[in-house]
Amino acid sequence: MINRWITFAACLLLGSGVGWWLAGKDGIEPGLLLAGFVWLLLDTLQIVRLLKWLRAEQNAEEPGSLSSLSPPTGGMWGEVADRTRRILKNRDRHYQESQARLNEFLAAMQASPNGVVLLDAEGRIEWCNQTAAQHFGFDAQRDVMQHIANLVRDPAFTAYLSSGNFSRDVTIPGGRSTPARPVKLAVHLHAYGRGRKLLLSRDVTALELAEAMRRDFVANVSHEIRTPLTVLSGFIETLQTLPLKEPERTRYLGLMAQQSQRMQTLVNDLLTLSRLEGSPLPDTGEWVTTGALLAQCEQEARSLSTMLAPAGHRLEFEPGPPCELAGVQNELLSAMSNLVTNAVRYTPPSGLIKISWRVLDDGRGEFQVQDTGPGIAAEHIPRLTERFYRVDRSRSRETGGTGLGLAIVKHVMQRHGAELRIESQPGHGSRFSMVFPAARVRQLQAVATISTSLL
Ligand code: ADP
Repeated sequence: MINRWITFAACLLLGSGVGWWLAGKDGIEPGLLLAGFVWLLLDTLQIVRLLKWLRAEQNAEEPGSLSSLSPPTGGMWGEVADRTRRILKNRDRHYQESQARLNEFLAAMQASPNGVVLLDAEGRIEWCNQTAAQHFGFDAQRDVMQHIANLVRDPAFTAYLSSGNFSRDVTIPGGRSTPARPVKLAVHLHAYGRGRKLLLSRDVTALELAEAMRRDFVANVSHEIRTPLTVLSGFIETLQTLPLKEPERTRYLGLMAQQSQRMQTLVNDLLTLSRLEGSPLPDTGEWVTTGALLAQCEQEARSLSTMLAPAGHRLEFEPGPPCELAGVQNELLSAMSNLVTNAVRYTPPSGLIKISWRVLDDGRGEFQVQDTGPGIAAEHIPRLTERFYRVDRSRSRETGGTGLGLAIVKHVMQRHGAELRIESQPGHGSRFSMVFPAARVRQLQAVATISTSLL
């Protein structure tokens, strides 16, 4: 500031000196005035330049982008410009840092597996991530500043939003939910800031489905166990209270043994299923001969056939080329014998049942069971491998079925990378095939040839 006064005084002195030199004593005063005017003019020009530069800086679109104009340099206005420039630079740096932090924060929210929606105090959408847009069917750009209640119209959500009590979450159908593909969302609101809300959404479709399946499963198992248990306790009561003759007692004990056998089969099947679900996938190191598997199936089929019908069935076995299958022996046997025993149980006496093994042209192996039984209507086929799904409930029970056989087959197939194919038509019998990948099949002749050529 002192420099400014010194410059001003020096300017006046110079003006008066020039006036005196040019016009003597009379020139001092006009010289002083002229010097003052020139100084003021130059000063004003500096201010105008500074203002122009400041305006240009303000109008620059991007913070941190430089205007083409240069600010005044030197003097008080130069210092003002310099300090302003430093303040602006600092402000830009802070702005860019905060912008980068905000972008990182938003990127983190974008990466969240949950839907995130930021609502203002009026309940309008300020921002939402892609997951939320997908969950609710929003357009992340177009729906900004739309009221959430106008976009999510589920009554449970509306009641939740207006209740103001956000201590628990609420489950609502997703924005793209259809009866064929239902989507369930768990939605939770959290209040923050001044009346703002954070809305989090989670896709719980799979969880809800698993929970529904668990409930159904428990209900089914309870039902399956309760029936033989009721029969058993009825017989026990009869035996305890009535003085029965020996033949009657023997008959009742026989029926009781049948019911307890039914429960035992059910428990065994349940244990097999849970073992299949819980154990690691079988590796390809263990090889089982298909001949042995088919021989065991044949034995089971023949004894079951004579047990169910004195006339028996016409059973045909085609063991095919001697092969080995990579997998767990008891799992493979359980799957194959389930198909074979089903064929025997559902085919009327004297019906034809063909059981075969063959190697397909591409090296895959196929185990096939074909029968001349009642056949299955098309609408049931996709559901046959569901637990406890039965087409013919009474036939299944009469022949000791648990409703779990094909569920076990499906699990064993999945664990061995194999495929279960079911072809059937009501009145024309059924054909169940298990197709194993080529990597799990080896023909024993081929092995023998290789070992001979190596010798
Ligand atoms: P289940 O113990 O009742 O036989 P499964 O899971 O083995 O249970 O089979 C499911 C249902 O598929 C059976 O209840 C039966 O209605 C039908 N089914 C299975 N195999 C045959 C077959 N070979 N012929 C006709 N129906 C069959």
